[in-house]
Amino acid sequence: TDPIHIVGGGLAGSEAAWQIAEAGRPVVLHEMRPLRRTDAHQSQDLAELVCSNSFRSDDANGNAVGLLHQEMRTLGSLIMRAADAHQVPAGGALAVDRDGFAAAVTAALEAHPNVTILREEIDGLPPAEWGQVIIATGPLTSPALADAIARLTGAESLAFFDAIAPIVHRDSIDMSKAWFQSRYDKAGPGGTGADYLNCPMNREQYDAFVRALIEGEKTSFKDWEASTPYFDGCLPIEVMAERGPETLRHGPMKPVGLTNPHDPTVKACAIVQLRQDNALGTLYNMVGFQTKLKHAEQVRVFRTIPGLENAEFARLGGLHRNTYLDSPRLLDATLRLKAEPRLRFAGQITGCEGYVESAAVGLMAGRFAVAERRGHPLAPLPQTTALGALIAHITDGHLVAEEEAGKPRSFQPMNVNFGLFPPLERAPRNETGKRLRGPEKAALKKRALTDRAREDLAAWMGGDVPRAAAE
Ligand code: FAD
Repeated sequence: TDPIHIVGGGLAGSEAAWQIAEAGRPVVLHEMRPLRRTDAHQSQDLAELVCSNSFRSDDANGNAVGLLHQEMRTLGSLIMRAADAHQVPAGGALAVDRDGFAAAVTAALEAHPNVTILREEIDGLPPAEWGQVIIATGPLTSPALADAIARLTGAESLAFFDAIAPIVHRDSIDMSKAWFQSRYDKAGPGGTGADYLNCPMNREQYDAFVRALIEGEKTSFKDWEASTPYFDGCLPIEVMAERGPETLRHGPMKPVGLTNPHDPTVKACAIVQLRQDNALGTLYNMVGFQTKLKHAEQVRVFRTIPGLENAEFARLGGLHRNTYLDSPRLLDATLRLKAEPRLRFAGQITGCEGYVESAAVGLMAGRFAVAERRGHPLAPLPQTTALGALIAHITDGHLVAEEEAGKPRSFQPMNVNFGLFPPLERAPRNETGKRLRGPEKAALKKRALTDRAREDLAAWMGGDVPRAAAE
């Protein structure tokens, strides 16, 4: 049988190759390193970790990425097997010896009888005679291939620059201080006039906030990012603060057209607005708050905003080069390019974020490719699983539909998080049947979400998940 080709041997490409090979199909993996380097990779190993050595939380009952680890282990992930074998102590997190990890992934693929590894750059669209191809070339896709993809998808569809604002879990916002209202109660197409969440600041709070932004520790641009210009309209919030103390309250934090129902007599000095970020309404992004502040600083400074004192962040802000597709518009439910279905995409180029997520999308891309070859499409993954929630975030057309209805839309790379899961049908209760509050409620809710995910994944797989793997 003809092999399935994969371009890019990073986290996603390596996992996809493993899944295909383990399913008994031949696979050819094309990796350009060491012949051609990227600006971040250092070695010639497959699945090199370019920055931190952490796969984040390994808690499968209380954390969405821990659950994703567990689901990937259940589905025979090579990336998780190598990570587990090369673990280093990191509390509740799964951190790895990066060299041992990448060497193990490389060795496993090199030793697999169904895998051929070719060290070459694919500098244009893969030739038609290859048939089915998975493109997993990551955020630093080589320019020649990126140009070819941009020509195929439309240049504006392949973002090269990533300016992202933090995203907050809606249920962590204090509604005794915040309120829903659109500026001047404007409903707009499809809107209600109460589409935004507003957090008010008095003069003292605002001045302290501006000072904290200016003084806060920033991440420095890497050399290869230094030449990237700021785009108009997405200036980092701390750069705006540096332009003058009043700049923000005349910009993204302007307090006009809004009345605080908790205290209508007091006029706010500035107002932070948050906009619904997902169809479920569980996530809200901070409008105009793209930032280069270090992650810990963002948490500290943004929690001084009234209403956000206990905010839980689904994603923090950042600014770096990133090549990713406008996937909700371009990809079908099995990650194929609608305009050219022989091309399937995987990894960070699809708009997921992070090592684990990239590998997880690679895992599914490999399985989708095998199913297509066999002529038996996979049943859709339940969105209640971590894998399903991630794939839905990437491929869900609701963003496109919203844009067509005139609503603002943005598709931004995101880590897996519980805000991407459909909410529970019933609020969790303890054995006494009492409704809960605070940390106990949050823990029970996460437990209920992860239990539901395990059940639904087992049902999708058509059998019981072995108990050992589920615990
Ligand atoms: P990659 O792992 O980058 O793999 C893509 C592969 O494709 C590479 O091996 C590359 O050499 C190859 N390739 C590219 N173009 C071609 C071509 N034309 N032909 C053949 N081969 C090609 N995530 C985290 O979870 N933690 C972090 O700390 C972290 N830090 C990051 C730091 C930087 C600077 C960047 C850019 C990203 C970071 N990420 C981080 C995000 C992301 O998780 C990683 O980039 C992750 O490696 C993405 O996996 P991937 O498989 O999609 O891409």
